[in-house]
Amino acid sequence: MKFVYDFHEGNKDLKDLLGGKGANLAEMTNLGLPVPPGFTITAEACKEFLKNGTQVDGLGTEIDEHLATLERDMGRRLGDANDPLLVSVRSGAKFSMPGMMETVLNVGLNDASVDGLSRQAGGNDRFAWDSYRRLIQMFGKTVCEVPGHEFEDALHEAKVAKGVKDDVQLDADDLRALVTAYKKVFVKHTGHEFPQDPREQLDLAIAAVFRSWNADRAVLYRRQERIPADLGTAVNVVAMVFGNLGSDSGTGVAFTRDPATGEQGVYGDYLSNAQGEDVVAGIRNTLSLADLERLDKKSYDELMQIMATLEGHYRDLCDIEFTIERGKLWMLQTRVGKRTAAAAFTIASQLVDEGVIDLDEALIRVSGAQLGQLMFPRFDLSGDPSPITRGVGASPGAAYGEVVFTAQRAVEVAAQGKQVILVRRETNPDDLPGMIAAQGILTSRGGKTSHAAVVARGMGKTCVCGADEMEVGQSSFTVGSHTVNEGDVVSIDGTTGRVYLGEVPVRPSEVVQYFEGDLDPAHANDPLVYAVHRIITHADEKRRLTVRTNADTGADAARARRFGAQGIGLCRTEHMFLGDRRELVERLILARTDAERDDALATLLPLQRADFLDIFREMNGLPVTVRLIDPPLHEFLPSLEELAVKVAVAHEHGQRVEHDEQMLAAVRRMHEQNPMLGLRGVRLGLVIPGLFAMQVRAIAEAAAALAAEGGKPRPEIMVPLVGAVQELETVRAEAEKIIAEVLGSSGSAGGSDSPGSSAVEILIGTMIEVPRAALTAGQIAEAAEFFSFGTNDLTQMGWGFSRDDVEGAFFWRYLELGIFGISPFESIDTDGVGRLVRIATEEGRAARPGLKLGVCGEHGGDPDSVHFFHEVGLDYVSCSPFRVPIARLEAGRAAVESEGSDHR
Ligand code: PEP
Ligand code: MG
Repeated sequence: MKFVYDFHEGNKDLKDLLGGKGANLAEMTNLGLPVPPGFTITAEACKEFLKNGTQVDGLGTEIDEHLATLERDMGRRLGDANDPLLVSVRSGAKFSMPGMMETVLNVGLNDASVDGLSRQAGGNDRFAWDSYRRLIQMFGKTVCEVPGHEFEDALHEAKVAKGVKDDVQLDADDLRALVTAYKKVFVKHTGHEFPQDPREQLDLAIAAVFRSWNADRAVLYRRQERIPADLGTAVNVVAMVFGNLGSDSGTGVAFTRDPATGEQGVYGDYLSNAQGEDVVAGIRNTLSLADLERLDKKSYDELMQIMATLEGHYRDLCDIEFTIERGKLWMLQTRVGKRTAAAAFTIASQLVDEGVIDLDEALIRVSGAQLGQLMFPRFDLSGDPSPITRGVGASPGAAYGEVVFTAQRAVEVAAQGKQVILVRRETNPDDLPGMIAAQGILTSRGGKTSHAAVVARGMGKTCVCGADEMEVGQSSFTVGSHTVNEGDVVSIDGTTGRVYLGEVPVRPSEVVQYFEGDLDPAHANDPLVYAVHRIITHADEKRRLTVRTNADTGADAARARRFGAQGIGLCRTEHMFLGDRRELVERLILARTDAERDDALATLLPLQRADFLDIFREMNGLPVTVRLIDPPLHEFLPSLEELAVKVAVAHEHGQRVEHDEQMLAAVRRMHEQNPMLGLRGVRLGLVIPGLFAMQVRAIAEAAAALAAEGGKPRPEIMVPLVGAVQELETVRAEAEKIIAEVLGSSGSAGGSDSPGSSAVEILIGTMIEVPRAALTAGQIAEAAEFFSFGTNDLTQMGWGFSRDDVEGAFFWRYLELGIFGISPFESIDTDGVGRLVRIATEEGRAARPGLKLGVCGEHGGDPDSVHFFHEVGLDYVSCSPFRVPIARLEAGRAAVESEGSDHR
């Protein structure tokens, strides 16, 4: 296997092998741009190295050959005492991991070549000794794990001894002395001298970059960014060029468009007489590119031309790093630049206008996740507030409020009508009431899968986790020099993870206003809104999947419809049994006779009919899947513990509490060890006579009522938790009878010719959420006109994971071990649970051609899962109203992507 590629040998499409940086350096070299010569050691070599923990067979010889070519090109030898070639050794993985891995500059310098470097630099001793001390510092830290502060302390002492403040005030003699001090630090920690052999320096630096792939911070970053752990990093060995050789030298970064807003026009920072790291480290204030034009017009003009070439070549925003060495411009890096969500949409749309890409490609270049970010309210950062700290953006949104430190306080303060931010070291289930009461949650520990993060996302609450600079106490937290007490106001940004002191104003999302149809006129011509509009319109034209919503109320249904929902895929009727209807459910459960039960059901019937009519009206003309009641009935009753205590206390006081006693007996009777696997769904319908029948009647009557108003109801009755066709057949037989009775037809649910109801057709289908249902889908399809995959339960039962408990309990460990890269409740496990979906799709359609198939679990709104459902061939996905636009966009992207792969 070939492990080393000269820059002339690679190209931009070899990112897997050469990493992003190496592939793009090769591309620029081949475009004839001024790239310092060099070579790339592949990520495969890194993988080999990490597997064996030692040098890779044959790698040394290949490096020898490429180094010889490099030396020939440069007319210098590595570390030559008179005229040394120096190289940088830089990491560069397939996906950018900024600052996570290592770099060593000035490799090749030693006690002899430092003088040669000085001569090369026109007798600039100061520059040469500064470069040497930087090498020892970087090499010591990176290669030999010498604590970085030891070098910083020595530098600080040198400045104190001389009575100066800035590094630049140290002269050549000071730096020569500093090199001696650094060498002592090096020996103290490593037990050996700083290596003088340039080739040994190079080999050790390469090995250190390989190892940095597995540094803690790199591992953590990959986990958060969902970058696979087994890619490895390539290593780039590049001839050094220097931006710190005087005022005719410098270094900078630039973007071909504004990466924050997408606005057209170059944008960048320049630092004269400095090395690359200095710009990023922000040690001096940078200049703008306009200043560079003033300072060095020739380099500026060349840079502008190169940027135009790169944009034209990559057909996208590029970011670059460059260095000017004594008036000669060098390109050190380019890549298709990272950008904000807003810039992604705006740039894609601009490039369509410029004729650079078509709408299909514009659609591919944005994502549902980015659209989601644009839909959250945002902080108005025009006042330029500076964050006091930063954590993991765990659940997006912008929230501010008074800080409280306990769940109980959160509830109390919120009850006074105030906004609160609940601050905890970490949260646990007892904090739930406080989390519900709070505007946002801020923790000092835990990542994206911590309890706080998972629960907050589920509730759609803003959450920042793992802000580990914070010391959280009983009634205050400190971070740096700030102490924030209970009652002080903070603002937290759940997208960026930033935490601000005080109230940062929040503004609603223009994108949501656009979807809602009430866009503030000030934004009517906003390029971002226009970009979202044209790209999502294109997604709608392209997509094959229909997008429905999960909604249980008329208001939700109406909102989802404005967001583009084409029907309801799941109306969870259990939500209609809460609030003041609990009492009716209690009556139903406690009924001692058939008459008492029928009476409770009869009281529920008109209420349910009104519920359904409301929803059918809002979704007039569109399908509405109503699911018959699913959860165990004891969920509607008081808790066993509380009730038992209440009754025991009453008895102690010699009181009789008949109602409570009856209730306690019922709760005990219904108590289950595993309620999720217990009496719920269709099982409930088969055990409690009349319950499903009441709901079916309410649906049919509501449909008939809407039809009578001239509307077009399209109800679909869905039976939950079916595992065997017989369950469905039993429910179906009863439902058909009731429907026929209500609609005045003697036939099946499929239509009627009696006046008023002739337009009404009610389908009957089932959830596929028990693995057995998926595996016997062929049989079940005989009795079902549609399937809707309940991937929440299918994941729960497929993996045997309790969906309510496991994410907080052990998923962090599973993620750490790489058993899965993301919670299977968040994104569908395509191999396992996805396979069940695939089997049921194939066998269901084989048994009943034209069987309608959809998904209504949480995965229906997850971007990756939407692509999977497209590929499997479902007819629709259904998700919460807010995610409808995201699903529309991703369904369009999936269609365009599969067209692309069909062409190949
Ligand atoms: C499911 O299980 O995926 C589903 C949609 O039903 P619920 O979440 O209500 O159990
Ligand atoms: Mg379910």
